[in-house]
Amino acid sequence: MTELIDSQLAGRGRTGPDRLDCVVCGHTPAAEVSFYRHVGLVVYVRFTRIQGPFCRDCGLARMRDATAETITSGLWSPVSVVLAPLAFVRNLRGRRAVLALDEPVPRPDLPESNLAPLPPTRPVFRRVKTWLAPVFLAGLIAVATLVNDPSAEKLNVVGGCVKFDTFVTADTADFVRCDEKHDAVITTIETSWEGCDGADGYVENLYRYYCLDAVEGSGPLVNVP
Ligand SMILES: [Zn+2]
Repeated sequence: MTELIDSQLAGRGRTGPDRLDCVVCGHTPAAEVSFYRHVGLVVYVRFTRIQGPFCRDCGLARMRDATAETITSGLWSPVSVVLAPLAFVRNLRGRRAVLALDEPVPRPDLPESNLAPLPPTRPVFRRVKTWLAPVFLAGLIAVATLVNDPSAEKLNVVGGCVKFDTFVTADTADFVRCDEKHDAVITTIETSWEGCDGADGYVENLYRYYCLDAVEGSGPLVNVP
């Protein structure tokens, strides 16, 4: 009877998660999971798989290190947009798998090992370095947005103002801020110069026709339809 139970237990062990030993410490139970680390530094791109099986403690430590490193050095290349989130999602999935495991214990049928499960490393979001990179990146994006803020582009809207550098050709017209000296105000934007029929003039830019209303004191507008 005892033999039967033992063999049943052993048989179950061989097919269940108890069959696996942690690749780091040799403890059990372990889960067959991998964690991913992405390094993306402009043109230097790496996507590393850290393969298990891992016990609960080693898996958590490996997952935290891989995720933290991905946050620190995996946000700086064009492909990071895809690879960094991919690493995060996979690591989260692996994290769930190892956290579902019981506390790791040495395999009973093996001679005692001097290996121990990895100590829990600091959680990802309690590491200062984890915050530096995203904060720096957010700052970069904010600065880039401000610098790139197309104030010049926003000027070519209805109600925007136009200044002619010369009165010879409308091609030298500039969209300017209305608090600067200007010659005309944009009344409508058309796809054909004929749409500006009745306006004081128009200026064409990138196949769009900006119908103009001359301001008092400006010279005669060119390109009058
Ligand atoms: Zn382990």
